[in-house]
Amino acid sequence: MGRNYKIGVIKGDGIGPEIVDEAVKVLDALSANMGFNLEYKEMLLGGAAIDETGVPLPQETIQGAKQCDAVLFGAIGGPKWDNLERHLRPESGLLGIRKEMGTFANLRPAIVYDELVNASTLKPNVVKGVDIMVVRELTGGIYFGQPRELLEDRAYNTMIYTKEEVIRIAKVAFEIAMKRDKRICSVDKANVLEVSQLWRETVEEVAKDYPEVELTHMYVDNAAMQLIREPKQFDVILTGNIFGDILSDAASMLSGSIGLLPSASTGLGVGIYEPIHGSAPDIAGQGIANPLATISSASMMLRYALGENEAADKIDEAIKKSLAKGYRTGDLSAYDAVEICSCSEIGDIIANYVCR
Ligand code: NAD
Repeated sequence: MGRNYKIGVIKGDGIGPEIVDEAVKVLDALSANMGFNLEYKEMLLGGAAIDETGVPLPQETIQGAKQCDAVLFGAIGGPKWDNLERHLRPESGLLGIRKEMGTFANLRPAIVYDELVNASTLKPNVVKGVDIMVVRELTGGIYFGQPRELLEDRAYNTMIYTKEEVIRIAKVAFEIAMKRDKRICSVDKANVLEVSQLWRETVEEVAKDYPEVELTHMYVDNAAMQLIREPKQFDVILTGNIFGDILSDAASMLSGSIGLLPSASTGLGVGIYEPIHGSAPDIAGQGIANPLATISSASMMLRYALGENEAADKIDEAIKKSLAKGYRTGDLSAYDAVEICSCSEIGDIIANYVCR
């Protein structure tokens, strides 16, 4: 009997279906060759779910996702649903499923491929060799804090972290650092915010269990600057929800295109694997989206959720090879392109390479 895995597939909106189809194409090519079997279960989330069921996160999706070994997700959202009330918008479906699945840890690698050093807006000598893992707390902080309210003449949100929440995300970061260069930079705003003071003290406590890991602290404003000034100083960045949201997008641009970077949201149960970008409504349906971030997310899924490291390595190598050969989607067309490819052509190329 081969290894059998149940994969939840959430295509979502905009370019979501296009990019997820390419990742599934690559996974199918791999599983056929590597002795494991993937059973897919498609589920609705975001705008597609609103259109079909009236809500952005149907109960069926929550239940279905919890029964899978991992969830592969595209992206949600778009102008069609922008005028709905906040709790009915696609984005609240995404926040909701993360909370439901207990995916409190968002892992976002920011890697600069040697083949694309010219694609970055920064100088090649600044970005060449960048390999950062941003570990972002995903289910707490100001995005979820209560009370929150929008009144006529004022509005407020609450930034809150419990010690327990900080301990569990810090542990994830230290475990990852142990498998990398053993350096963590914890990012906060402890000079201004009490919640950051607790964050810093707690991370220091967790660090005592990992004496091999070098821990430093940085204020978020400085971290934003340092990411642009000298990104190679970072190995693992550990930070809260809102700071991580902003810093990981900034880090993503080191690589040249938001269409390249994957993420994993893991934690208490089934993990969600998704590109860091949104649904790109401006290019949806044109077949020009870059599927590499989603294909790379499928690689993270194989590695972190299924333990299929060899298969994950094959995807990572295939991506590098296709970039080295000069195959590019439009977002990267200006950088050493030999051939401009559609979204599905890139999927074909990677699927072909992983079989070799
Ligand atoms: P976006 O990431 O969708 O797009 C930003 C820019 O990057 C656009 O010009 C887009 O064309 C380009 N881009 C993004 N992914 C690309 C890819 N794979 N290949 C080539 N180009 C790509 O961000 P946005 O425009 O701010 O948001 C659009 C919608 O996506 C909004 O409704 C937003 O709420 C939603 N969103 C969803 C997620 C998610 O599902 N995780 C994340 C962010 C934004």
